[in-house]
Amino acid sequence: MALDACTEVPVLKERGQREVFCGLTGIVWLHRKMQDAFFLVVGSRTCAHLIQSAAGVMIFAEPRFGTAILGEKDLAGLADANEELDRVVDQLLARRPDISTLFLVGSCPSEVIKLDLARAAERLSERFFPQVRILNYSGSGIETTFTQGEDTCLKSMVPILPSSNEKSLMVVGTLADVIEDQFRKIFDTLGLGPVYFFPPRRATNLPPVGKQTYLLLAQPFLSETARALIQRGATLLDAPYPIGVEGTTAWLESAAKAWNINNEHFQKTIAPAKERAQIGLERYRQSLAGKSLFLFPDSQLEIPLARFLSRECGMELVEVGTPYIDRMLMQNEISLLPANVSLSEGQDVERQLDRARLAKPDMTVCGLGLANPLEAEGMTTKWSIELVFSPIQGYDQTADLAELFARPLERKKRLSV
Ligand code: SF4
Repeated sequence: MALDACTEVPVLKERGQREVFCGLTGIVWLHRKMQDAFFLVVGSRTCAHLIQSAAGVMIFAEPRFGTAILGEKDLAGLADANEELDRVVDQLLARRPDISTLFLVGSCPSEVIKLDLARAAERLSERFFPQVRILNYSGSGIETTFTQGEDTCLKSMVPILPSSNEKSLMVVGTLADVIEDQFRKIFDTLGLGPVYFFPPRRATNLPPVGKQTYLLLAQPFLSETARALIQRGATLLDAPYPIGVEGTTAWLESAAKAWNINNEHFQKTIAPAKERAQIGLERYRQSLAGKSLFLFPDSQLEIPLARFLSRECGMELVEVGTPYIDRMLMQNEISLLPANVSLSEGQDVERQLDRARLAKPDMTVCGLGLANPLEAEGMTTKWSIELVFSPIQGYDQTADLAELFARPLERKKRLSV
């Protein structure tokens, strides 16, 4: 057990076998956000299968992601693999003139690791300049977990962001468009801006960055992107994440302070949405209060969610597991957790399962692979992936977020009557 230097909260660090998706999963929400981008996974049939099943259906006529499957033949030599990749890219771009940015996404198979995708992206970029920009990042399960794919993707875009000395706010991390609109409206009413969202809705519409850029992170899993933006001169605003009434208020307030917005004006601006959220939450708080919660590490959203569920919904935290704790991004959140919280970083899945079984929590948040066996043992689970795919940030989503946890408990109650 190590002591967290910033917060004095003890952290159980585990480095055993883990049950987490790989970073390719991020393509599912990234391709929905950046409407003119295409994600080409350079990988195996397993990768293609994961992407298709994670996305649910092979969406409509033609989706904006695909897989360049490197077969036996291509693996014979690197020259062949590069030729095959060029051929797939040629075909794709000839067929899809709407693509403005193409991401080559690396994966695990050893032959793909040997392929220098950065050089391939450079080579292809020169060929297709200026119509298509070609970038690369890794979604490999060896290097990334689940949400880290978004981090590596956004980081690959940082070097191409235009430079600017204008004072601006950059909200970093994929948000559903509806949430982006809600936040933009609040920032406008506060008189704060210009505000840019990264990733943008169109990959060609890149936000500027420089010494006067203030960063507000909308997602807690963007360590590398945040550091790359800081290296380009930006300042990270100190705030928890916009989850729940408390998190959203503190998050907005952090930006308001950087713009010296008068507190009375701030409180007046947020009051209607804040009040709506508090009223909406009350109903679910009644079902959640006093219930115990165990979070397995998966999406890196665990700590902000635990903070919301304990402080605003009255749940009792048995263990809060998270794949990785970046103190720069998590200090605010950890300091809001109960002092006696049991925090764990990384995973040793069998040992953690033993702890969960022993504790018999009312609710367990975990990945898909663990949910079914635990349900079969009579435990109530919530899929963590659902929390990444659902719009959960901001005031107007607070009650919906609490409902995601209240629903399985209600169902269980009804079944046991
Ligand atoms: Fe592909 Fe590796 Fe992810 Fe499996 S873990 S789907 S091989 S990138």
